[in-house]
Amino acid sequence: MGVEEGGRRGGIPVRADSAGSVWVSTERGSHLRGRRVRDTKPEVMLRSALHALGLRFRLNRILAGRYRPDLTFPGPRVAVFVDGCFWHGCPRHGASRFRGPNAALWEAKIAANKDRDVRANAALAETGWRVVRVWECEVKADVQQAACRVDALVRRAGSAPDGAPAD
Ligand SMILES: [Zn+2]
Repeated sequence: MGVEEGGRRGGIPVRADSAGSVWVSTERGSHLRGRRVRDTKPEVMLRSALHALGLRFRLNRILAGRYRPDLTFPGPRVAVFVDGCFWHGCPRHGASRFRGPNAALWEAKIAANKDRDVRANAALAETGWRVVRVWECEVKADVQQAACRVDALVRRAGSAPDGAPAD
């Protein structure tokens, strides 16, 4: 009946969720299932632009026990997330409504991602990290500007007195 078990590479849950709903395979969804979750094009573009500004950072470090920003600057304690417009519900490019058999599940999935983003911001702030979120579309529109936004925060944070606890 078009239902697959066990999920696949790419992190799309293809399984029954706790409410007993199931994802139905659709042609439209299949291209999303194999997507890369790391080293996405916007991430790579932003990294290059930051490197060009002379910034050095670490990749995919786990902070506050469970969150994995795309880039971290350990000294000034700045964490950067590059958020995909679709997955994180960009106000300009996120889907405003979903259609098809999985509509409610997609809506719940994106809402859950956004909730997680809010929790990540709070958890990281609590452990003394400054969080900057950059939309995929910002990077694509003007990577220099996005890089300058990160650069400004890193410099400001690096010069501020830091009484934050270590993670
Ligand atoms: Zn966007």
